[in-house]
Amino acid sequence: MSAIDGLPPLREVIATHGLVAKKSLGQNFLLDLNLTAKIARKAGDLTKCDVLEVGPGPGGLTRGLLAEGARRVLAVEKDARAMAPLAEIAAHYPGRLEVVNADALEIDPLEHLTPPIRIVANLPYNVGTELLTRWLTPPSWPPVWESLTLMFQKEVAQRIVAQPGSKTYGRLAILAQWRCDARIVMELPPEAFTPPPKIHSAVVHLTALPEPRFPANAATLQKLTATAFQQRRKMLRASLKGLHPRIEDLLESAGIKPTSRAEEIGLEHWCALARALDAA
Ligand code: SAM
Repeated sequence: MSAIDGLPPLREVIATHGLVAKKSLGQNFLLDLNLTAKIARKAGDLTKCDVLEVGPGPGGLTRGLLAEGARRVLAVEKDARAMAPLAEIAAHYPGRLEVVNADALEIDPLEHLTPPIRIVANLPYNVGTELLTRWLTPPSWPPVWESLTLMFQKEVAQRIVAQPGSKTYGRLAILAQWRCDARIVMELPPEAFTPPPKIHSAVVHLTALPEPRFPANAATLQKLTATAFQQRRKMLRASLKGLHPRIEDLLESAGIKPTSRAEEIGLEHWCALARALDAA
């Protein structure tokens, strides 16, 4: 199969540079460039955007992003062995790809980019949730990014888009859906990756809303939902009693039955309770 961009096929790139996948870095590579171009298209029109990619590895998704016309890509990769293959891609797309050899958790790559910014990544599973949480909790809203298009293990993707009443509904769903539209846009079996992981994967596309869906203080909402979901099977009057001596009254004033459980409560009521706590 000829490559989308005239660069060598990824299997050849990996063999040439001895990029044997390391488990410790969460390395499960996508080698099908038609698939990586498809993921890049799920991020929307990239031609007027700078893109942050975390963990480019041998560069399959990076090539997809560039072939789909991303204005500029900043690729942050921890593995020094990937620098040589990524430099070849940068040379093929002059002035459009900047590669940084760093831990994505240690730097603020958004400072290097010009808005509008979209973030697209096949994330290392060990740092995926941590990065998502950071991107969803910036110092002010709207955030510097317009959208996030991210590969997760399917179980994490389901937690991001979960609705009240489901087993996967929890803090992550509330954090994501309070200020974003969140959808699963693609599912991938283990065989799509080299080496294949044990789990299925899914791509989630999150678009930042200009305003939160319901007003609330972000820190209060996070503390409240963290406390409530720590003991998700308990009634809220019990799990939240440490937050306020009159928690039953506050629950009632927010329109929540004190005997209900965290997984039954929708966003609107969580935000009402966060406001009641702040006003109490
Ligand atoms: N994007 C490539 C692809 O789709 O084939 C590779 C995806 S692989 C699942 C995750 C990549 O993230 C690996 O290349 C790994 O070295 C890199 N990585 C792991 N931890 C990282 C970190 N903390 N910061 C930056 N990159 C990291």
